[in-house]
Amino acid sequence: MAKVSLKLQENVEGNFYVDSTCIDCGACRRFAPAVFGETEEYSYVFRQPQSPANELKAQRALLACPTASIGTQNKTDLKPAKRTFPLQLIPGVSINGFNARDSFGADSYWIRHPDGNWLVDSPRFTRHLVQAFEAAGGIRYIFLSHQDDVADAHLYARHFNAQRIINRRDVQAQPDSEIIVEGEDDVQIGPGKIIFTPGHTRG
Ligand code: SF4
Repeated sequence: MAKVSLKLQENVEGNFYVDSTCIDCGACRRFAPAVFGETEEYSYVFRQPQSPANELKAQRALLACPTASIGTQNKTDLKPAKRTFPLQLIPGVSINGFNARDSFGADSYWIRHPDGNWLVDSPRFTRHLVQAFEAAGGIRYIFLSHQDDVADAHLYARHFNAQRIINRRDVQAQPDSEIIVEGEDDVQIGPGKIIFTPGHTRG
C-alpha cells in the first residue's frame, strides 16, 4: 500500500499520488496517460483526473500497479474500476491489469475463444481475476511470451488445469510447463499460431 510519507515531491497536489517504491515499470502511464508521467527514475502524477473517464483510468492504474506505489489521499471506492478488469481492448481480447512485480509490471492479456480461452503472460494471481476467468469459461492455454513475464502462471495453470506454453530456450522460468516449443519454426496449437520472435531473451 502506498504511503503518504513516501510521496514523491513531483506529484501535483490532489487525490492521487505515487510514492518512492515505484519501479518505473510504466503500467500506470499506459493505463492513464493523461494522469501519470515519467521522471528519470519514477512515474508521478502530473495532472489529477479532470473527468470521470480519467478518474476511472487512474483507478485502473492504481489497481494495475505491481508494487502498490499509487495511493489516494481520500478514501476511494475502487470496486467499480476493479469490475472493469479484464478490460476489453477489441472483441475477444482484454488486458488483465493486476500486473505482477515478478514481471516488472508487464501487461498480460486474455483471449476468449470457443475452443478454450488463452492467457498471454501472467498477471498477479488474484481472486478477482480467477472469478472473472471462471465466469468466462476458464483458461485452456497460458502462452508465455518469454522467461521474464511468467509471474503467477503456475498458479493459474494449477487452478484451471491449463497448459502452459513456452519456448525451450526460456523454459527454465517454468520448467514444468506442459507444452515446450522446440526450434524456431511456427507452431500451431489449437487455434493459436506460435511465431518465434526472440527479443531480449533467447526464447
Ligand atoms: S505502475 Fe506503479 S511501479 Fe509502475 S510506473 Fe506506475 S507507479 Fe511505478
